[in-house]
Amino acid sequence: MAYLFAGLASLLAVTIFRIGKQIWATYQCPGTAALYDFWFGRMDKASRKYRNVITHLGHCEQCQEELRHIQKGKPLEDHLVD
Ligand SMILES: [Zn+2]
Repeated sequence: MAYLFAGLASLLAVTIFRIGKQIWATYQCPGTAALYDFWFGRMDKASRKYRNVITHLGHCEQCQEELRHIQKGKPLEDHLVD
């Protein structure tokens, strides 16, 4: 019986860790190169990275602003200097 509880507890811990990792990934700014890939359709739409960028853009004003610059065609060099 103790083994069953230990097994369930470790399964729960792994699940919580994975969910936490996914949430943490959506809070990380993906970076200019990833935003370019996202905007120009070079990112696999089925990938977790793509979903993370979409979720991140929903709450990060800094990346929304950066994406607006990309949409306006700001040269890549300007972003690399930042
Ligand atoms: Zn961001």
